[in-house]
Amino acid sequence: MQINADTKPVGLLGYPVDHSLSPLLHNAAFRAQGLNYVYMALPVAPGDVAAAVSGLKVLGFAGSNVTVPHKQEVVSLMDELSPQAKAVGAVNTIVCHREEDTVTCYGDNTDIAGFLAPLQQFAGELHGSEMLVFGAGGAARAVVYALLSTMQPSRLTLSVRTPVRAEAMALDLADYDTRHSLCVVSMEEAATAVQTSKLLVNATPVGMHPRITATPWPHAADFSEGQVAYDLIYRPAQTRWLRDAASRGARTLGGTEMLIEQAAASYVQWTGHAMPLDVVSNILNQHASESP
Ligand code: NAP
Repeated sequence: MQINADTKPVGLLGYPVDHSLSPLLHNAAFRAQGLNYVYMALPVAPGDVAAAVSGLKVLGFAGSNVTVPHKQEVVSLMDELSPQAKAVGAVNTIVCHREEDTVTCYGDNTDIAGFLAPLQQFAGELHGSEMLVFGAGGAARAVVYALLSTMQPSRLTLSVRTPVRAEAMALDLADYDTRHSLCVVSMEEAATAVQTSKLLVNATPVGMHPRITATPWPHAADFSEGQVAYDLIYRPAQTRWLRDAASRGARTLGGTEMLIEQAAASYVQWTGHAMPLDVVSNILNQHASESP
């Protein structure tokens, strides 16, 4: 990749950002398509987000991704928001629009499309069924909005360790809960919902590298055939929780495809080009095989 005076920068605003795979996959895609862009991980300490967004504007950035802990704070700094970002109250993608001397920032949330893409193969059988999500953080918000607005669950249980956070989320998303399906339970109370839900989603970091023996639900006997278990974690590609679910006949989805699809939905907005998914998938596989 030749970096020159015309190179358009794209960044990742987060804290910390040093383990992010986004630079690897976006730069591989730019290279493969001969696009004069470069993607950098930019650590932005809490309290510095407004300065960072002003920096994107004045330094000629095409845009950026936004990750933990800044996704919510960035919302109020945008000149315009997509309906999805507005609904979820979180931005993971900023697109800088330049017209003469004016630069405006458009905030989007591509976690929603990224989450739904791998689920499409099961959409028919899952539509209208009972579902459960572990966690009530930023990713869970995108997941819950995505499920409420496309799959009309008969019941959507949030199984969490901090119910007050999940209850606030349920209130924020009440407009999309047309079937009044949302309910909040503690992790200790979730057994029945785990057994009866057709879709189970892990939106907590429990089981992520390096704590790979951890699981959000240690009772493997509660899983069964006919269920789909979807873990947002992508490192490792197959978590203990997914292995437990598979051992009881459930079908499983890891987080790698979501990672790629949310990246692709950002990439096309910065460059106008569809991301080469095969290139990105290969580079992630290569990285996984070289990582401890
Ligand atoms: P977050 O905002 O920090 O939220 C984490 C959630 O998990 C919170 O509800 C937290 O509960 C809960 N939690 C954390 N540790 C727990 C434990 N030991 N037991 C029970 N609950 C626990 O993080 P996030 O951004 O939502 O990310 C969550 C996961 O999704 C991460 O693994 C992340 O890598 C993954 N993710 C993947 C993709 C992808 O593209 N594949 C995209 C986004 C996120 P409290 O409210 O009690 O703190």
